[in-house]
Amino acid sequence: MKGQMSWRKKEDQPENSVSFSEQKTIIKALMRLRTNRDDYHTMSREQQVNLIRLRTGHNRLNAHMNRKFKLAPSPTCACRQEDQTAEHILQRCPILDEERKEVWPSPTPLQTKLYGSRQELEKTTTFITSAGLIV
Ligand SMILES: [Zn+2]
Repeated sequence: MKGQMSWRKKEDQPENSVSFSEQKTIIKALMRLRTNRDDYHTMSREQQVNLIRLRTGHNRLNAHMNRKFKLAPSPTCACRQEDQTAEHILQRCPILDEERKEVWPSPTPLQTKLYGSRQELEKTTTFITSAGLIV
């Protein structure tokens, strides 16, 4: 009985001190995770898919479909000015000027469009929808 008590005590002590520092580590990691989490996580599944595709470049735009899969006849956009990439359609494509100005009346950095607040991200998905683009 006495042996069991001391065995327990011996086990409890290191376990407690480890779990205290572990708790601190876990809490810190969770806090970091929370602040790193962007608003993307609060959006609909469809919006998330669109944003991920735009962010990663793994999308159905010509540049990727042509270079990666040879599924588009050319990487060039219909405007013929540049490859059809996420940056091109979000920032520069003249065909989408009207839709772009409606969503972003003033010039907005690509970073904001892809990684901004939820409000900014909503604008991006609205633009994609109103432009009739499938990304
Ligand atoms: Zn274009």
